[in-house]
Amino acid sequence: MISVSELHQKYLTCRSVSIDTRKIEPGALFFALKGASFDANTFAAKALEAGASFVVMDDPAYVVDERCLLVENVLHALQELALYHRRTLSIPVIGIGGSNGKTTTKELVYRVLSQKYKVFATQGNYNNYIGVPLTVLSVREDTELAVIELGANRQGDIQELVDICEPSHGLITNIGKSHLEGFGGLEGVRKGEGELYDFLVRTGGEIFVHAEDETLSDMLAERGADTGKVHPYRSDARLLATNPNIRYEADGKEVTTHLMGDYNFINMRAAMTLGTYFGVSGEAIHAALAGYVAENNRSQILQKGTNTVWLDAYNANPSSMGAALRNFDALEAGKKMVILGDMFELGEEGPEEHAEMGRLISTLHFDYVLLAGPLMQNALKYLPRAYYFPDKFGLHVWLQDHPMEHTHILIKGSRGMGLESTLNLIG
Ligand code: ATP
Ligand code: MG
Repeated sequence: MISVSELHQKYLTCRSVSIDTRKIEPGALFFALKGASFDANTFAAKALEAGASFVVMDDPAYVVDERCLLVENVLHALQELALYHRRTLSIPVIGIGGSNGKTTTKELVYRVLSQKYKVFATQGNYNNYIGVPLTVLSVREDTELAVIELGANRQGDIQELVDICEPSHGLITNIGKSHLEGFGGLEGVRKGEGELYDFLVRTGGEIFVHAEDETLSDMLAERGADTGKVHPYRSDARLLATNPNIRYEADGKEVTTHLMGDYNFINMRAAMTLGTYFGVSGEAIHAALAGYVAENNRSQILQKGTNTVWLDAYNANPSSMGAALRNFDALEAGKKMVILGDMFELGEEGPEEHAEMGRLISTLHFDYVLLAGPLMQNALKYLPRAYYFPDKFGLHVWLQDHPMEHTHILIKGSRGMGLESTLNLIG
């Protein structure tokens, strides 16, 4: 069995780290992980043929030659190597956790800090027990700062991730009703996400916090966080215009963005605060924010014929949907339509949370409310005028039969609902 320090020596000679034989680059260190339906030990020879320098594996039966490095457990070896590597790096590592807005905040922070430093940030949404170690192992000697997204579905997840990447700086975006099932209710989310604060307080790390969020402030107070290490940010800004770009006034300056929603302004505030902390100039910060365009159905504004579509079909939970709806309500625009799909992963609270969403919508002002999915039926009791479709195909037919014009349309639902498919039927 190879020790972690020996493995680190080998890793340093490799050009990249891979867990997927289809994407191996020459000179890669390949980790032969096991999944529910595969065992990558069986691909060891293939990985070497594809150009891997070494294969880390835990089944001696598939060892080909001395390039196969045997360990007790490949996943553990990956995580241990990441921690070992982390400890050789003397750079700031910024951990970003929270229920909603992690990826957006991470991308914004990455862009802002990249104005001044060589930054490595989590790729895409690679934020779990495999993604975080891979992120750490992608940090090379010339990297000056790392930004790491920390995802969690249950209590203990964040603990595991911070023990791998040991952040020196951290931020929890918010505590919301996300993954309620796995966390065991909102209190569980508070506790689980709070594991990042536990770590930072214990190790004397710097904490960035949305100071108007009482839950977060309480969580810091409960842990006796040193106020000298807490850096607050606020959403203080005035909305100047929403079309076609969104413009705010903040700190006496105008900020332009392609991101809709005041929750995104808070995400931007987080990035601005981190930028200032790390010495990025105000101008460079503003340029970075103005240049950011969200991808993957996250908060995109699209023009479809005469209609303006606010597409947010990447994910949905009661916090993010509530925020999106309140924002859309506040938008000064003519005719408005909302198309909402089921929010998944709420466990037994699903029906009640959807009913609650219906109650919220009944207090807002939209010309059309279209609801799709079995859970959304629960919202109907508060929304006698809404159009309801058990699945999105009924919704497609309705949209085909009712072409919209000059309408602002908000589309939001869980990823699995795939509501972006309705786009083809608008405009
Ligand atoms: P995931 O758990 O999938 O990694 P995430 O935390 O990375 O999600 P994002 O992908 O950045 O979150 O954003 C997902 C959605 O969350 C956005 O499309 C938006 O609707 C909502 N959202 C973003 N920021 C906030 C925020 N600060 N508060 C509430 N909701 C937000
Ligand atoms: Mg994410």
